Amino acid sequence: MSLNLNAWRPASRPSIRNRLALWYGGILGGVILFLGILLYLRLSQNAYSDFDLSLRLTADALARLSLKQSQSTEPLTADDFLQGTDDPEFFTNFFRFYTSSGELEIRSKNHPKRTVPLSAPSFENALHQKATFESFSYPGRDDIRVMTRPVVYQGKVLHVLQVGGSLKRVDEVLSRLRFILFLTLPTALVVALIGGWFIADQALRPVNAMAQIARQITAGDLSRRIPMHPGEDELARLAETFNTMLSQLEESIQRIRQFSADASHELRTPLTILKGEAELALSEDYSKDEYKEMIVSSLEEIDRISRIVEDLFLLSKADLEEARLEMGPVPLTPLLQETVSQMKRLAADKDLSLEFDSADDPLLYGDAYRLRELFSNLIENAIRYTGPAGQITLSVSQTEEQIVINISDNGIGISPGDLPKIFDRFYRAESARALHPKGSGLGLSICQWIVLSHRGEIDVKSQPGQGTTFTLRFPLLR
Ligand code: ADP
Repeated sequence: MSLNLNAWRPASRPSIRNRLALWYGGILGGVILFLGILLYLRLSQNAYSDFDLSLRLTADALARLSLKQSQSTEPLTADDFLQGTDDPEFFTNFFRFYTSSGELEIRSKNHPKRTVPLSAPSFENALHQKATFESFSYPGRDDIRVMTRPVVYQGKVLHVLQVGGSLKRVDEVLSRLRFILFLTLPTALVVALIGGWFIADQALRPVNAMAQIARQITAGDLSRRIPMHPGEDELARLAETFNTMLSQLEESIQRIRQFSADASHELRTPLTILKGEAELALSEDYSKDEYKEMIVSSLEEIDRISRIVEDLFLLSKADLEEARLEMGPVPLTPLLQETVSQMKRLAADKDLSLEFDSADDPLLYGDAYRLRELFSNLIENAIRYTGPAGQITLSVSQTEEQIVINISDNGIGISPGDLPKIFDRFYRAESARALHPKGSGLGLSICQWIVLSHRGEIDVKSQPGQGTTFTLRFPLLR
């Protein structure tokens, strides 16, 4: 059974584009719906209050006319009112006058045939000098709205006046508005959804392009980059970050490849020598001394292999931050003196002078074992890369804040082209290979790690053919 991880997808989750479109459409649709309902409510409220206002104005005018007419001795007729006004509301609204005991006095000629009651509460209200608005519904016909109010003279209710009108026009306007809203709202929603989808599609297009390129990038080919469009937007920044990440990844994969190639190359040389010596030993009979010589030579190669392996092991532990340091206060002068005296024999073998000059005796907070390894490596290099009768000097001094250690030689020096690379793993200058073929190119990488893990700095100055000075600086322990 095989498991295809690429085929796995979270169950039925809509794409970001669809989700954005839905959100956009949903929010816009919600806002439009809310505004539509608000508009409808507001307009219908306005339409009814306008209608009520027209009833009120008509009633007021009628009340004034009735008071004027009441001065005359003639009884009131509907025509009296129509002659007294040119207000168009008079012709659309109907009216009725009742006596204060509830008997109908006059009713306008345009009064509808339907029964429009004078309700008991509205009559009661009128007797108490209050106006009342009421609506009456008739199945299959338009509604009628009526205002009932008193006509008062000298504090006495002379008549109860009713003015009414059909709500047909108001209802028609409102139903037309409802129709328009019902038509436009879903259309607006559909347009919002399509618009949202289109905007999301446009916005996410570069992301899709990035995903496509990212899919084509494999560990085998990290050289591809996402095309950058001019601009400062989020996607341009994302593409830039992605490209930077790719460059770093490409660089570190390149370093790993180089490192493996260098490591196998460095190990192959002593192994080939070892194999050659073993084959030589087996090829014919040799004297005891000759065998001894072969074994000594083989042991040298085995030493070289184990040193490379140990150095590699230490560096990989350092990379993983697993290399432990036993930190404590270390008096530097005795440690340097001890190291120098151990290396004196090696220097003497090459007829070199090795001098140590200590102006101070500073305390360094560090790991004595690793510090000894650091100084031994640097002195050993100075011995290796200095010709006979050369001079090597070591000095230690302290400033207000720092401990400064110089290791100088007047050896072969390092060319400006090699100088920036000497701390790289396995890097060896050609001149150094010629002088000392058995180095590994790992010593300075280890020195650099030791210095950095003691919060120090390592610098090198060199003149080819004149010599080299390594300067180490560490913070002073107070
Ligand atoms: P190795 O000494 O095994 O080659 P290192 O990492 O210690 O490896 O040094 C790397 C390279 O730096 C050497 O191969 C050499 O080219 C250069 N180097 C280091 N120390 C000196 C020195 N004192 N004088 C000249 N070249 C040096």
